Amino acid sequence: MSQFYSLKVTEVKPITPESVSVSLEIPADLEEQFSFMPGQFVMVEKVINGENLRRYYSIYNTPGENVIKLGIKLKGKDGFADYAMHSLQKGDTLQVSTPMNDVAFDFSKSSQKIMAITIGSGITPFYSYIQYMMQHHFQHYFVLVFGDENPEKTMFYSELQEYARTSPGNFKMYNIFSKDDSGDYRGRINADILQDILQKEGAGFDAVYMIGPDDLKKTLVQVLADSGIDEAKLHYRIYS
Ligand SMILES: Cc1cc2nc3c(=O)[nH]c(=O)nc-3n(C[C@H](O)[C@H](O)[C@H](O)COP(=O)(O)OP(=O)(O)OC[C@H]3O[C@@H](n4cnc5c(N)ncnc54)[C@H](O)[C@@H]3O)c2cc1C
Repeated sequence: MSQFYSLKVTEVKPITPESVSVSLEIPADLEEQFSFMPGQFVMVEKVINGENLRRYYSIYNTPGENVIKLGIKLKGKDGFADYAMHSLQKGDTLQVSTPMNDVAFDFSKSSQKIMAITIGSGITPFYSYIQYMMQHHFQHYFVLVFGDENPEKTMFYSELQEYARTSPGNFKMYNIFSKDDSGDYRGRINADILQDILQKEGAGFDAVYMIGPDDLKKTLVQVLADSGIDEAKLHYRIYS
């Protein structure tokens, strides 16, 4: 059972014009409670306009920094993301749960062929994992299929591009932009795009991770079956 603690906000800074990074300080006496691995999330609790909101956010930084960083993307008015973007400030405190499991990455092997598919703020646990993989010199080949509207709205776009440029043997990113031509594909992630990527990358994936809406998961299940990839290799979280 996860417990809530009061954590101090040490930084609030924009990631994109519609998303914000919130850093939470982990005091020395809570280091054990807030130790985490990539793929974990916390629950944040806040009373906003008289309503007690509880929202989940994946941790996007890597372990060992005495800080937890959340990447929060605006969804609509008056929710927690709106508050985080427009009102939350350095020095404020938030009620935050201890980390819980989300994406079940396999840390037992340091050489795997991995595919991750996501859209929008679904990138956060994958970004944590990709940084961790680079820091620990894992011999993975990680293929990220990442959809958003355009590069400007894509969280961690330049950082991920830099990894792809400097570590092509470890990391490859396919960008699918719904409102821009500068990506690898234009539109939304669909069966044709996934099949094309699998054809380019070969099918021998050890694990496939997806965070996205249910229809994307259904499409992915079909594409994996058509490509002869065992469905047991798919790990997903539905996120609309
Ligand atoms: C395990 C888990 C991890 C998550 N990690 C992250 C993360 O790392 N980063 C992140 O940003 N979010 C993440 N989420 C989603 C997050 O928990 C909230 O649901 C999200 O921030 C919206 O909450 P809110 O309070 O701002 O909006 P709400 O109060 O839920 O909604 C406010 C307004 O926005 C509208 N709205 C809500 N969702 C959408 C949508 N998808 N599209 C369009 N309009 C919408 C509503 O209709 C309403 O008008 C995660 C969710 C889960 C389950």
